[in-house]
Amino acid sequence: MAGRLLIVDDIATNRIVLKVRLTEARYRVAQCRTGAEAFRIAHEGDIDLVILPATLPDMEVAALCRRIKADPATSAIPLLMLADPGDSARRLAALRAGVDDLLSPPFSDGRLLARVRSLLRGHEADRELQRRDLTARALGFGEAPAPLTRPGSVALIGTSPEQSLGWKTALRGLTPHRIHLIGWSAAMELDNPQDTPDLFIVAAGSLGQPDGLSLVSELRSRPATRRAAILTVHPRNTEDSQTRALDIGVDGLLEDRFDPQELALRIDRLVTRKRNADRLRDSVEDGLRMAATDPLTGLYNRRYGDHHLASMAQRTMTAGRSMALLMIDIDLFKAINDSHGHAAGDSVLVAVARAIRDNLRAQDLLIRLGGDEFVVALPDIAAADARLAAERLRGLVAELHPRVAADHPLKVSVSIGLAFGGPAPFGMDHLLAQADAALYQAKSTGRDRVCLAGAGPRAAIVPGTSAGPVQGLGAFPGASGGYEAIRSA
Ligand code: GH3
Ligand code: MG
Repeated sequence: MAGRLLIVDDIATNRIVLKVRLTEARYRVAQCRTGAEAFRIAHEGDIDLVILPATLPDMEVAALCRRIKADPATSAIPLLMLADPGDSARRLAALRAGVDDLLSPPFSDGRLLARVRSLLRGHEADRELQRRDLTARALGFGEAPAPLTRPGSVALIGTSPEQSLGWKTALRGLTPHRIHLIGWSAAMELDNPQDTPDLFIVAAGSLGQPDGLSLVSELRSRPATRRAAILTVHPRNTEDSQTRALDIGVDGLLEDRFDPQELALRIDRLVTRKRNADRLRDSVEDGLRMAATDPLTGLYNRRYGDHHLASMAQRTMTAGRSMALLMIDIDLFKAINDSHGHAAGDSVLVAVARAIRDNLRAQDLLIRLGGDEFVVALPDIAAADARLAAERLRGLVAELHPRVAADHPLKVSVSIGLAFGGPAPFGMDHLLAQADAALYQAKSTGRDRVCLAGAGPRAAIVPGTSAGPVQGLGAFPGASGGYEAIRSA
């Protein structure tokens, strides 16, 4: 996963050494000396990660972090600070200001590159969520994430109960989040995402069999826990286990004998980030759902329908099967609006939509095309069954008599145009046009009826009343239980 990294350091040899190590790993590298230059370059764009020193000539590193994180144009860029563990005041200040990770020199290429990979990967996921959220919001759906309100839940899993208790005691009074001690097996038994902690802090040292990193792999792979944040705690100088932890997807790591204040700040950051990701994911899912459905009836909308119909046609043709399309329009709907008001019209639309939806099979697709017009796609259906289905839907609506006021049942009917495609190749646009033409015919021959595409002017196949050509029914050989299947599903 290559990216463009910005190295900030006013000592030229530090910059050069880092640049050599990173370009060998195929990263593109920009470099600068001061905080002001760093902010300008980050602001120009195309920077995926900033590597910061412990000190800058023109400002505190924490001030630069704050500036980068406060500006929407740069706030998503991950920040990695290289600082000695003894430099605790600067480390804590940078963590408070939004630095994403810290690395203590001296470090091997392996440790450096594992951190860079982990930060780029984690932030690419965050950015993808942000992009989808922006799309959903540009379409007018979803809301900006609300700030974190309730405290997070943090599970401590030490190598022994004493170690977990030691961490908990050290954190007392330093964090607003709820801290629990849990064991390996309790963590493995979590199966409801609602009960899962926001963050696991896991000792990477051996827990007997298997070790802490095996637990991390399990947590990452299980549906209930895979979205939780994970921070691992490693004995000093355990490069292999630290690199492995980052590569299996921990969100941060600490070495033993850490400063409890640093742990508290990291907890806050990881919990906040995890909560924001949850909220973004929810809002994206809501946004996508809302972008695909019609808010009045809850049915799929035209945009979703176009896409889905095209793939249904493709599947039908590939499988050498046939499908039917029904174009359905409520009769004289304008008159309902005019006589009873728009709200009454809305409730009729909802009642008709529900009646049709409740009488389709799971694999059928119902779309509100707009206004009082619907499309039903019936895949894998024989012609005779499709005709019966259409007629049954027409009959159901005719029997609906929705009440728009307390005691005012309405007579509502629909006209339906039916077109049939397959097993020979067919175009979905052509099928829609045929169904539309058949619908027009149903309207012009009296409404409350089903017309079959391509069947000529006398194709009204079933009338709503005894006035129509009932003999049309004779045109449906082999009428079978197929419609019953549609009805009961
Ligand atoms: P026809 O039998 O020829 O279909 O006659 P019609 O009156 O139903 O004519 P048409 O289908 O053209 O009229 C659709 C009407 O539906 C026009 C529009 O004002 C109304 N309409 C469209 N969307 C909505 C909606 O969301 N709610 C309500 N209440 N009315 C709507
Ligand atoms: Mg109409």
